[in-house]
Amino acid sequence: MYGYNGKVALVDLANRATRTIDYDEEFARKFIGGSGMGSYFLLKYCTPNTEPLSQDNPLIYMVGPYQGTGIPTSGRHQVVTRSPLTGAFLESDAGGTFGFFLKRSGFDGLIIVGKSEKPVYLSIFNGSVAFNDAQQLWGLDTVETEGVLKKLYGRAVGVSCIGPAGENMVPLAGIFHDGPDARAAGRGGAGAVMGSKNLKAIVVGGDRTVESFHKERLAASVKEKVKLLKDRGYGLSLYGTSGGTALAEELGDLPIKNWSLGSFKDKVTLITGQRMAETILAGNYGCMACPIRCGRVVDLDGTICGGPEYETVAMLGSNCMVDDLNVIAEANALCNRWGLDTISTGAVIAFAMELYERGILVDSDVQGALRWGDGRGVLRLISMITFKEGIGAILGQGTKKASEHIGKGSAQFAIHVKGLELPAHDPRCFKSLASGYATSVRGACHLNSYSYPWERSMTFPELGYPDTVDRKEDKGKGIMTAKFQNLCSMVDSLKICKFAVLLGIDIATMCDWLLCVTGFNLSLEDFLQTGERIYTMKKAFNVGVGLAREHDTLPERILKEPRDSGGSQGLLPDLERQLEEYYNFRGWKANGVPGKENLDKLGIGEFAHWLQA
Ligand code: SF4
Repeated sequence: MYGYNGKVALVDLANRATRTIDYDEEFARKFIGGSGMGSYFLLKYCTPNTEPLSQDNPLIYMVGPYQGTGIPTSGRHQVVTRSPLTGAFLESDAGGTFGFFLKRSGFDGLIIVGKSEKPVYLSIFNGSVAFNDAQQLWGLDTVETEGVLKKLYGRAVGVSCIGPAGENMVPLAGIFHDGPDARAAGRGGAGAVMGSKNLKAIVVGGDRTVESFHKERLAASVKEKVKLLKDRGYGLSLYGTSGGTALAEELGDLPIKNWSLGSFKDKVTLITGQRMAETILAGNYGCMACPIRCGRVVDLDGTICGGPEYETVAMLGSNCMVDDLNVIAEANALCNRWGLDTISTGAVIAFAMELYERGILVDSDVQGALRWGDGRGVLRLISMITFKEGIGAILGQGTKKASEHIGKGSAQFAIHVKGLELPAHDPRCFKSLASGYATSVRGACHLNSYSYPWERSMTFPELGYPDTVDRKEDKGKGIMTAKFQNLCSMVDSLKICKFAVLLGIDIATMCDWLLCVTGFNLSLEDFLQTGERIYTMKKAFNVGVGLAREHDTLPERILKEPRDSGGSQGLLPDLERQLEEYYNFRGWKANGVPGKENLDKLGIGEFAHWLQA
């Protein structure tokens, strides 16, 4: 088979045993890789009753067919599991180098089940899996862990690991890669799942390579597209994603003061990527095979580490009213080292600040004052969350569970969907984000459908958008969300970065690359139907764990409180209208879930039992 190893390792930590699962071309064509294969294996190896932090919850890593081919931005992998933060389906897309070395190890993926009695790390080379004592690593942060393992195994390996937050099973903990450059499978608590298995790290490498079906044609196309991405991605390379912070503020997209304000005009220039370039920026970073290199490297008083991206600047910055870029960068570095998702961490801290302002939390709860803009308070809370100190143990459960615990009307200030905190884009600004967040299978996620750039300045003729879509309009946005979810399911299965799509890698190019790598010849319709198949599997998982239409909603603040100023002043999304469109387009039932006939049509009828919640 071209483009694949055709093997996935099923690793049982409890029994220290490994079995190889072989798959064939038909399976690969149907589920592609990454998100698709990961979702398939999750439905296979999980049950609706499997608790997220139980040893039976599988932790799955998958690469895609593009990995290792030189296709630009293909150095990515997908982590799939059941989320301890939401209880729902969880997938997390990570960049860096780990995926590249995983494929070189002879496996396209890992399905990790069971719980080791003692801390363990896995080393996986050329088709063989070893279980190693990790007592010496336990307690180290992610940078230290990577450092120790690279010293032991050399530079030409990939390391995936957790920090203390994952060890402590904090539901905001992610899985980290590439040491100080911190490429994270950040959202939804995959790090806590890893910690619950006593699994500190995975080291991968080897010299296994896979053949491409049409090497020369692929090389020519890659050369052309690398140039295109370099040219169009110049701004991202120069200023990173936070180069867009001022524009986000102007449009009314940037979250400010726990999503309660419309403008941050007088402060925003202090926290932009441009400001970073003038002050602490020391270089940029690129994931494997990426010509764009949007990652930031900063110098924090002599310590060189990964710098904050837009989501982090917004969530730990403006959403907490912090306007000191150095403090934001320090908070980012702490989260990366200790292994926390910066988006949800910023969100729970903003939530705590609002509760403090309203007198629901007091000094003794948060170990001192916690006023808006208090950068030192942000750093203190990151520590309390990581080490489960005092209220940190509650905040680390995420805003939904924290508000249930705290009570006193705090739920109205918890800004999440299905328990996952909103990332830094506002459905009141880009209307497609309303149905996008509400229906996203992992809770509020801007990358699940990634439609909003096409409401700003882009066109996507292959999806039926020859002109830019009006961001303030609700009509058509439910359909737009469904189409982009299907697209993103393919992007996450082939495994390229969504910024490549943003910069002009269209479906025709993705299909051509798939043909060159694997020999699979997909039409536009095949491509989108495969995306639909993959998305529907994820939805089936959520139906199985008891999620239905009533969970497809948004926080009251986003639905009912318009911004008081700025570029989205006075706007509110019409979510119900979008949802009607969305379910109709998908052909799902009125209660917002697919029926057996939907699964049968897509060739995934074997998972119909997941629909019997
Ligand atoms: S654009 Fe940025 S996130 Fe995407 S692959 Fe390149 S460096 Fe990684």
